[in-house]
Amino acid sequence: MHQLGEIAISRVVESEGPFVDVFGFLPDAQKDVIEANRDWLMPRYIDPESMMIILNIQSYILRTPRHTILVDACVGNHKTRPGRPMFDQLNTPYLADLEAAGVKPEEVDYVLCTHLHVDHVGWNTQLIDGRWVPTFPNAKYVFARTEHDFWEQRHKDGSEGPVPNVYDDSVLPVVEAGQAVLVESDHELDHGISLEPAPGHTPGNIVLNLSSGGSDAVLTGDVMHHPLQLVRPEWSSRACEDHIQSAKTRRALIERYADTDTLIAPAHFASPTMGHIIRRGDNFGFRLLGEE
Ligand SMILES: [Zn+2]
Repeated sequence: MHQLGEIAISRVVESEGPFVDVFGFLPDAQKDVIEANRDWLMPRYIDPESMMIILNIQSYILRTPRHTILVDACVGNHKTRPGRPMFDQLNTPYLADLEAAGVKPEEVDYVLCTHLHVDHVGWNTQLIDGRWVPTFPNAKYVFARTEHDFWEQRHKDGSEGPVPNVYDDSVLPVVEAGQAVLVESDHELDHGISLEPAPGHTPGNIVLNLSSGGSDAVLTGDVMHHPLQLVRPEWSSRACEDHIQSAKTRRALIERYADTDTLIAPAHFASPTMGHIIRRGDNFGFRLLGEE
């Protein structure tokens, strides 16, 4: 747990490990660049044996004096994800881990998805008596309108892309239950907690800015997936909808926060995940919180 002014930030990990080959996930990645940064990338962020990148699928929990907010809802249990074994029919103790972190589902006031990809919406719903129902019965689920409308349209067109079913089983049931709130991409969720547009990875992708007691943090979602993208901000992932725009948004964010006190809380960096962006020569690196 990290205390940022009045906001307590903690993480609940659904799964973490060497899930994908670095060159498969970052198609532009170059061996010599990885080798030159081996000292800090391996073994925490890249498994040196297999050259698989360590990916962390997790939620952030924000507790303010007023609200409990869950940011990004991982993959979820029992979801059918054809052709995606790392997402298909999971059965993890995520809800027990959430409770161990002090949060019961009924205590969550807001669920915020930075975007509506498969690994960010899963626990929006759970399977009860054969139906997908909202996991967090008292929560408002906050989606950026641009993002929601993009995936709703794809769902209607039957063109969801490489991972089908996601809108259908993890977003639509929330909308039908009347728990979805569609907001503008700069919406303020609570005092000092605001969305900011960060398009590219998906059209309505957002980051979440936190500011409390004179301290700042940003939950960067999937603007970057892996610390290697600090070395080469132009390397977009194969999961990015628009590789060029994603790279622009990534570089702007990295340059804005490099060598500042703003705490960076990425979605997928290996545990313990949070830290600060630092300049390293012409590029950038990452200094973990607690290692400064
Ligand atoms: Zn993701």
